[in-house]
Amino acid sequence: MAAIADFRPISLEDAQQKILRVCVARRQLSEHVGLENAQGRILAADLRASRNLPPFDNSAMDGFALNSADLPLSGECRLRIAGTRFAGDAQASTIERGECLRITTGAPLPTGADTVVIKERVRVESEAVVIAAGELAGSNVRRAGEDFAAGDLVLSKGQQVTSTRIGGLATLGNDTLEVFRRPRVSIITTGNELIMPGDQTGPATIYNSNGFSLAALLRASGLQAHLPVARSSPASFLHLPDDPDQIRSALSELAESVNVIITSGGVSAGEADWLPILVAELGRIHFWKVRMRPGMPFLFGEIGSALIFCLPGNPVSTIATFLCMVQPALRALQGAEPALAELPRAHLASVITKRHERAEFLRACCEVRDDGTLWVDPVTRQGSAMQRGIMEANSLICVPEAVRELDAGSLVRIMRLPELA
Ligand code: AMP
Ligand code: MG
Repeated sequence: MAAIADFRPISLEDAQQKILRVCVARRQLSEHVGLENAQGRILAADLRASRNLPPFDNSAMDGFALNSADLPLSGECRLRIAGTRFAGDAQASTIERGECLRITTGAPLPTGADTVVIKERVRVESEAVVIAAGELAGSNVRRAGEDFAAGDLVLSKGQQVTSTRIGGLATLGNDTLEVFRRPRVSIITTGNELIMPGDQTGPATIYNSNGFSLAALLRASGLQAHLPVARSSPASFLHLPDDPDQIRSALSELAESVNVIITSGGVSAGEADWLPILVAELGRIHFWKVRMRPGMPFLFGEIGSALIFCLPGNPVSTIATFLCMVQPALRALQGAEPALAELPRAHLASVITKRHERAEFLRACCEVRDDGTLWVDPVTRQGSAMQRGIMEANSLICVPEAVRELDAGSLVRIMRLPELA
């Protein structure tokens, strides 16, 4: 085990790959959940269609079901209306040549019919309809199995049950799904200077923002923060002073009850930065320090069976490191594939010059221009302690570590922020 002083900054890509390797190996077990509770969950098994969709040939429109052989090549035809079939009508029906059936959208097609002519295009005369030439054989019919045939792959293991997929899963008759369990996660913030919004301020206090950011980012990832059992806190995170004994006992306790511990602050090389020392003492450090800005002092390790992510305390560093490393880790632990999404690209609205050898995450605003292209522009305040920049921004521009200068108009990768809600 390397001594604390031996840890050298690694690249963000290395950091992400190391985290993913560990998290994939620690992937959660699966469980069955009801469809109502499956939103946001990751499928733990391939899902195949148990039956055809649609299950039977049916009408796509309100109109008249008929045999296309009765359609006129020129002039008009006249077909007797043999009855009516509404969606949900179960009794079998048949039409003969020269007949049609009045039918509503979704009703099963009668035997003998292969076409539906919409009601707006026919003339009803007492018990018959008159149809002019020009209708297409086979139109307005949804064939059994044309959407999914029984046995088709619907969604693969590793795909997410999103709000736009859940209806399809219901349509295919799935009442429960096999999904990966969600990891239990706890958040600890550290710092003597921190008080809660609403508390009495002092000459050297600031309000704790990272506890709220992390709890919210966790919720946006579909997870919730758990508090250690015996500790009460008005918030969903635990706050501790820079006291090694208190931090040690909280870490030891949490390592036995959660899968993931996220901490904020106390991870640099300052006198009050206890986390690297404590993680090395209680468990092991996988890496400490990443060549990114903001967020350099980030640490990844494990204590007992829990993974620990120690995020630097500057508020923008906390958010950036969560997005780059913790969020993909949480996705990987839940079996999501890919855990690390490829980022969209946008045109840069102004020049970027960068002198350091780290990946940079600039707070930025992106907008769609009239010609449909996406443009992104850094906001003015870029300090990692500055809240205004991250509050104004709707995206982060990701500048790779090797890049020094980017011209206006060049394409850059961006991370969209509002999509996180
Ligand atoms: P640290 O990483 O503990 O050295 O903290 C770096 C900077 O971030 C310091 O200015 C801290 O006051 C600030 N900071 C640390 N934790 C928080 C927090 N939870 N909320 C807001 N600011 C914080
Ligand atoms: Mg601190």
